[in-house]
Order: sequence, then structure tokens, then C-alpha cells
Amino acid sequence: MARYRGSVCRLCRRENMKLFLKGDRCYSDKCSFDRRSYAPGQHGQRRSKFSDYGIQLREKQKVRRIYGVSEKQFRIIFKKADQKKGITGTNLLQALECRLDNVVYRLGFVNSRTQGRHFVRHGHFLVNGRKVDIPSYIVRKDDVVEIREKSKKVQFVQDAIDAVVRRGVPQWLELDKDNMKARVVNLPVREDVTLPIQEQLIVELYSK
Ligand code: SF4
Repeated sequence: MARYRGSVCRLCRRENMKLFLKGDRCYSDKCSFDRRSYAPGQHGQRRSKFSDYGIQLREKQKVRRIYGVSEKQFRIIFKKADQKKGITGTNLLQALECRLDNVVYRLGFVNSRTQGRHFVRHGHFLVNGRKVDIPSYIVRKDDVVEIREKSKKVQFVQDAIDAVVRRGVPQWLELDKDNMKARVVNLPVREDVTLPIQEQLIVELYSK
């Protein structure tokens, strides 16, 4: 699977918003977007006008980059969201939020979704007491997500869990910070996704 290996800060500058892809750095004065909030590249400071298609495309790219999924994966997630009952855009965001790599990030077990994916792949997390090393694993209501006993002592995890205070844990997750364990009390609803996302534009893009 093709994976973007360039500077992730460029992606924030391209999407003209902070995507919070670099953990603590995103909240510090070292954030590249805070320093240079214009598009990357030679013509980045030019004013650009987008067509309707361009606006829809940028919205899709933005969401894809926030959650760190490939184009192919994103299309599959969209297709499933479209086939499900309810509002397609909301289903799409719910499916992205319920990915295990996002859940461990939301819980503050890691500093970014990228790190979440990495740690999940290395088997640091258990779901309902069983090791799950698939970042795209979709959690369900009442699932219990926890850090493997051996991994609880890793300094990185300790630092990340202390830093979650700044971000806050969403209401659909119930965190037991002392035991590094959490329960999915509800599936996320639209209001739980606080980033400025216009999912309708993505639906329009894929409906062409
Ligand atoms: Fe984006 Fe700033 Fe974080 Fe870089 S440091 S990923 S520019 S929010």
C-alpha cells in the first residue's frame, strides 16, 4: 500500500488547517502551520480559487489525512457507510472514529493517530482481553480497550496519557486512567467529531 512519507506539516499547510498529525509539537510554538499558514511550494502564497470539484476534493483529502487512511481504504469505508442505514456522511465519520488507531489516540494512550497505528501493529493493545494488532479494527459498543500489561510501563505511554488532559476524552469513551482501560459506552455521533469537517462535500464528490 502506497504510504505518504513526506513532511506531514506540509499536509496541514496544504489543507489550510491544523490536522494535529504530530502529537505534542502541534500544541507548541514549533507548529509549522502557525509559523507559515500558507500552502507549501513555490506558488503557495498565491491566492487560489477552487472549483466545486476542487472544494469537494480538498475536503476528502483533509479527512483522509486526519485519519491517515489510504485512498483505497477510504473508498471502501465510504462504500460501507453508503450501504448502511442512516446519513452516509455521519456513517462515514462514525466508521473513521471507531477505528482502533483513532480510539487509542482519543483515549490518550498515544500522541497521534500515526503513533496509534504503529503501536497497534506492535500489539500493545487488547480489545476485550485479546490482542488486536489491526489498526483498522472497528470497535463496537461495550468493547473494552486496554493497554497490554507489559506496555503500561513504557514511558511514552505514561507521557501520552498525561497529555490527554489537554485534548479531553470524548463522551462516547469512558476512561479508567489508573488502570489504562476504557469502555466504548456509545458509538460516536456527529457532535463527537469536533474538527471542522463538511462530510456532505465528500458524499457529493463520490456521488458524481
Ligand atoms: Fe500540523 Fe502543526 Fe502538527 Fe505540523 S505541528 S502536523 S503543521 S498541526
